[in-house]
Amino acid sequence: MFGGLGPMNSQSWKPDSLRFFFESTSIGSGVASGLSLLNMHETDLSFISPATAAISLALLWIAESLLPAFIEHRGSSRGGRWRNLFLAGLNILVASGFAGLILFVTNLSQQTNFGLLHQARSLLPESSTFTLLLVLASFVLLDLWGYAFHVLAHQVPWLWRFHALHHNADHFEVTLALRFHAVEIALQGLLSLPIYFLLGVGIQEVLLYQLVLMPIAFFHHCNVSLPGNLDRILSWVIVTPGMHLIHHSRWVRETDSNYAPVFSIWDRVFGSFRWRERPSTVAVGLDGFDEKQIHTLGGMLQTGLRAKASHPGERPSNELIPEALVERDDRVEGIGVSDSAPHRCS
Ligand SMILES: [Zn+2]
Repeated sequence: MFGGLGPMNSQSWKPDSLRFFFESTSIGSGVASGLSLLNMHETDLSFISPATAAISLALLWIAESLLPAFIEHRGSSRGGRWRNLFLAGLNILVASGFAGLILFVTNLSQQTNFGLLHQARSLLPESSTFTLLLVLASFVLLDLWGYAFHVLAHQVPWLWRFHALHHNADHFEVTLALRFHAVEIALQGLLSLPIYFLLGVGIQEVLLYQLVLMPIAFFHHCNVSLPGNLDRILSWVIVTPGMHLIHHSRWVRETDSNYAPVFSIWDRVFGSFRWRERPSTVAVGLDGFDEKQIHTLGGMLQTGLRAKASHPGERPSNELIPEALVERDDRVEGIGVSDSAPHRCS
């Protein structure tokens, strides 16, 4: 969710005016960080930052016009692509404010040898294989934290108030990946600090994760219908548009599913995976958030500042839901969120 957070070499890290601002707010510094893992320390790739975001957005924008899942979602939406981009700019400013804190926490974890991965590193013999394994482990653990935070954002009412902005758009499109409330970005940033410390991840590993997360997030928010069974097959590894589209359904049982950021395995392991026979039948949005003023820039920024309940949405017909899920829904009826009452308002 955050952009890149600093130059590639933490030892030589010095905040110096515009250069620091530029690098600390760009996913290009994530590219630089990734390459620094391959010992390309001298490479200055900060110029790639705006290009990386622009190219991935442009490619997926084109893909949306060629293979749309929703024909009617092409072009401008009421949610507003430009308003989503404005929010992205605001969120980059908020995220950049955490650059120094993340660097401090990750360095502290390293210096005290406290974090899980630092402990593992001290126990393992020095070799490039183990270094690579630890980088992969950090990536998987950061993805698990991303999953956990997303579950919290749905289940904790005061977090849901702000996360609702991401869900109340009634168009599914690539810029939805940027549509988050600044308060949610700040809360995730704060909660991530102790997690980074406990996990013992380094600043470069955080940057590498962000580098991969951003294009994947653009991809799974993209209004595309992949050919044949490609979406279904890919969804065994990564989060796909068809899988994430269900997360943007108005029906609460689907809204509260498919939380994974990169690897879809988390939803399968923790029982939050859902599927539809035809994902393009999903009604996108959030019941209770349909008034026009909610979708103005001012309305979007005010989301979460006033208590507002979302509603469980309409249940699709049984033939659209896999049989096993219908049975599971019947079993949990009365235990989980009611399908008829307003919920998550604090
Ligand atoms: Zn969500």
